[in-house]
Parts: sequence; C-alpha cells; structure tokens
Amino acid sequence: MQIPFNAPLRIYRQQEKEILAAVQRVLESGHYILGPENKALEEEFAKTQNCTASQIVACNSGTDAIILGLKVLGVKPEDEVITVSHTAIPTIVAIRSTGATPIFVDIDPETWVMDVKKAQAAVGKKTKAIITVHLYGNMVALEKNSFSVPVLEDVAQAMGSQLHGEIAGTLGDAGAFSFYPTKNIGALGDGGALFCKENSASEMGRMLRNYGQKDRYNALYEGGLNSRLDEIQAAILRARLKMVQSWDREKADTVSFYRESLKETPLRFQKITPGCRPAWHLAVAKTENAAQREKLQQFLEKQGVQTLVHYPIPTHQQKAFAAFHRESLPITEDLAESILSLPLYPGLTVPEKEHIVSSIQTFYR
Ligand SMILES: *Cc1c(COP(=O)(O)O)cnc(C)c1O
Repeated sequence: MQIPFNAPLRIYRQQEKEILAAVQRVLESGHYILGPENKALEEEFAKTQNCTASQIVACNSGTDAIILGLKVLGVKPEDEVITVSHTAIPTIVAIRSTGATPIFVDIDPETWVMDVKKAQAAVGKKTKAIITVHLYGNMVALEKNSFSVPVLEDVAQAMGSQLHGEIAGTLGDAGAFSFYPTKNIGALGDGGALFCKENSASEMGRMLRNYGQKDRYNALYEGGLNSRLDEIQAAILRARLKMVQSWDREKADTVSFYRESLKETPLRFQKITPGCRPAWHLAVAKTENAAQREKLQQFLEKQGVQTLVHYPIPTHQQKAFAAFHRESLPITEDLAESILSLPLYPGLTVPEKEHIVSSIQTFYR
C-alpha cells in the first residue's frame, strides 16, 4: 500500500464534472479578472464565515492576504509585528514585505500555538500589530481586548475552526485565509482572502489588491499590489465551498481515529485550546525526540506511508531571517525536532487509515 501525504488529484476527482463546468463557464464568459465569479465567491465565502461580503477581499494568495492585512492595519517599515516562530515561512515573509521587523515569541507547550501571555509581555512602543497563527486547525486563545494593538489572524491552516462559537479569522481586526491547493479549501492554483472587521479597512484592501486604485487609472494608495484572484480560481472555489463541511467532518473523524488508536504509544497530540472546535488542516504527532522521529519516519516510509514535518526549521532559525533572531525559543525548537505530520485529507480510505495506525503500533511494539 502506498499512501501519499497529500492527494490533490483525488480531491479533484470528487467534483470533476462540476469543476470542468465551472471552468468552461468562465472561459466562455470572456471575463477573466475581478468579475462576477469573484463577487459571488466573496458573497458565498462571507456566509460561511458569518460576516458580510463587504468585509471579504478575495486575493491571489494567503501570503498576499497577510501583506494586504498588515498594510491596511497601517504597518510601516519602522514598526514591529509580534508573532510566533512556529509557523509557515510565509507569515514572516509577509511581515518583511511591509518592511516591518518580526518579533518572535514562544508557543504554549500543550496547544502548540501562541502563548498569549508571552505575546502580551512582548508588546512595546514599536509594536504595530500581532499576528496570531492558528496552526494545524487549533486556535490561539484570543479574547476580546487580549491586545492593545490590532490583531491579524493567520487563518491559513484553520479555515472553519471556531473559538467559543466565533469563526477563526473574524475574531481580530483582520484575518488572512489561504486557498493553496492543500489547505482546508484549495484552489487549483493559488488564492487567498482577507477579512477586515471595519468596512473602511476592507475597502482599502480592495484597492490595495488592484494597484491601490480606487477605480480605473485613479490610484489612491501607495503600496498597492497586483493580487487579484482570477475568475477561473474563483469559480472553482465556489464549487469547493459546498464540500467544506463534509470534508471537515471527514478529517475530524480521521484525527479522532489517530488520537484514539495511538493513545497507548509514546506519541503526543496537540491539546485543543479550551472552547475551540478545530477544523483540522494537519494531523501532527509529537515523538519522544529527534532520533525517534527520524526512525519512525523512515519506518513509515518503508510501510508505504508518506509523512512530512511542519516545520523542521523554526522560522527564527531560518537563514533568511537570521537578522531577527534574538533569543532561543525552547518550546518551538523542541517541537520542530520531534513532530511528524500524518496523512490527512478527504478521501483517505478506512484501510489506509488502519494501515497508518497499525504501522505506528508495530513500530512501537
Ligand atoms: C499556507 C500558509 C500561508 C500562505 O498561504 P499561501 O496561499 O501559500 O500564500 C501563510 N501562513 C500559514 C500558517 C500557512 O500555512
């Protein structure tokens, strides 16, 4: 049995006819950029996020959504933005794209997401914004007024997660969603969306994604990008939006199955933040140490189970961001050495899940 870590083609096949029809609809419309599909996507996506369409700005990627969000919140090169090191590289790339300095704080040892107290303690005169990263589907324990500065939620890995009934990405001042193909809803290419609490902010975001123009040939803001979502991707995303709840349920069942079946092994799982109902993006297990992780990963590879590590080098230790590495972050560093991500996607079959679990049980026996 060969079980790939991701299976985007399998997911495509689930809706092949509908997606081909959506693509054809766009091709024959003659309208390929910022058209009716974008507008409809923003409306339909807003419904799933319990917000208004005017608060949603579709854009070209999750990275761009963070960049646009930070710009809308007024982040400038002389500012600092606090976030965690235990995140995907694009979180930090987005901060640097504004010219601001990333300030890294450590994560909570149980929930593996931002330790809010540490982030609060790091707020200083230069802090312009906080980026809370809801990693793997779990959420940062964000409360109203947790911070005295604006909060942008990086919700690239937690679309559909909820905290005390509120939807991830809409708790803060801005939220950045990714439609990268393997995310909770993936385009067949790149895509993203920005949520803004204030309509004036989303209006600015809408201009910034299109060169900073208010309307054609009339630029209001410097710092604009070309970050338009194309109509084909918007049409595909509309079709996929219909599947997201059943896909989330399917993945939640898989995660429960892993947790339950592996509870007698030395593997540890992320503690769900109190009040959070996660929409899982990744199924991550913590092994005892780096050597065990290496051995388990190799053993699973031999059993036909492909695994990955999210992420092996913490962002504060990346060469690209060496200039911003101030102090060590022991919890982040320990996790990066010992975690392993198991396959998790819609369409993963029961025999496949059983093979994954029994292979891990065999390894520890
Ligand atoms: C995927 C991801 C991003 C970037 O999204 P893209 O659509 O790939 O640009 C940002 N942050 C996190 C945590 C991610 O997982």
